[in-house]
Amino acid sequence: MKAFTYERATTAAEAAAAIARTPGAKFIAGGTNLLDLMKLEIETPTHLVDVNRVGLDQIEETPEGGLRVGALVRNTDLAAHPRVRRDYGVLTRALVAGASGQLRNKATTGGNLLQRTRCPYFYDTAKPCNKRKPGSGCAALGGFNRGLAVIGTSEACIAQHPSDMAVAMRVLDAGVETVKGDGSTRTIAIADFHKLPGNTPHIESALEPGEMITAVTLPPPVAGTHVYQKVRDRSSYAFALVSVAAIVPQNGPARIALGGVAPKPWRVEALENGDDAALTKGILANARPTTQNAFKVPLAQRTISHILAEARS
Ligand SMILES: Cc1cc2nc3c(=O)[nH]c(=O)nc-3n(C[C@H](O)[C@H](O)[C@H](O)COP(=O)(O)OP(=O)(O)OC[C@H]3O[C@@H](n4cnc5c(N)ncnc54)[C@H](O)[C@@H]3O)c2cc1C
Ligand code: SF4
Repeated sequence: MKAFTYERATTAAEAAAAIARTPGAKFIAGGTNLLDLMKLEIETPTHLVDVNRVGLDQIEETPEGGLRVGALVRNTDLAAHPRVRRDYGVLTRALVAGASGQLRNKATTGGNLLQRTRCPYFYDTAKPCNKRKPGSGCAALGGFNRGLAVIGTSEACIAQHPSDMAVAMRVLDAGVETVKGDGSTRTIAIADFHKLPGNTPHIESALEPGEMITAVTLPPPVAGTHVYQKVRDRSSYAFALVSVAAIVPQNGPARIALGGVAPKPWRVEALENGDDAALTKGILANARPTTQNAFKVPLAQRTISHILAEARS
């Protein structure tokens, strides 16, 4: 691991300002992804700003009837919160499908959204990877790519986004609140938060350099059966090959978002006013899989079909 300096911030604005004035600095929250990447020297921050004591560890009701989840709320606490369990069941189910109990106790809401891909070549510094080293090439294109994305990819990168929580937040139409180094704030719709790779796969989110996530807002609850189904190689402690977050009313259009198949949580709202068959077939209509991961398309379609049939029966 490369040497770095460290400071602990006490407010979000102070943390963002500290990052802005220190080239090469990064926020650290739970550290469950960042520290692994630092050990491998894939991430080499010169300075860490610890945000664990900035006070963003509360879940509050919003005046609109939704929830505001502080960026430092741990995945365990978010999953267990009574309002989340009652009104946002898809989110609780997605969270408990992720990682392990120990990891969820450390992992935070903000850090989970920004965790990096699990493409094996991203972690192998002996191989080319445009995401890790822009312009170096992509070892996954001609390599082992069974777990990687089938839609939203580019010639430069076919990595998938690994988060379970983010898929549920996408189906819930969450908003991501931030603060910049100059103290200004904004809210980014989750649909616009994660970027497709294009020619710049190393740019993964809409955050500007030094911008800090302060909270995630959930709109008022959406009625219907809340489901999160994760298909993976082992029944626990594995990332998704395909995951489906769904909110299914007895009658009327369902909302669906997919994980494990794209560089960002994947939802196609334009299809949600059609019938179930059209939604199931259409959601991956533009997929461009490799020979190794072509199985993800029918797997996703069958998982969606199963969920819709079960939820409406
Ligand atoms: C063995 C293992 C298995 C796992 N399995 C799963 C799984 O099945 N499903 C799943 O979804 N996840 C899984 N994870 C990933 C885990 O969920 C993430 O590591 C975790 O959510 C990251 O949160 P963190 O708070 O630890 O982030 P950190 O590691 O602290 O930070 C991650 C990134 O976010 C940035 N950051 C953190 N907070 C902020 C903020 N407030 N504003 C701006 N930037 C910020 C950091 O600078 C860093 O770049 C697994 C991880 C491990 C190690
Ligand atoms: S798919 Fe993306 S992350 Fe994986 S090697 Fe290619 S450029 Fe790197």
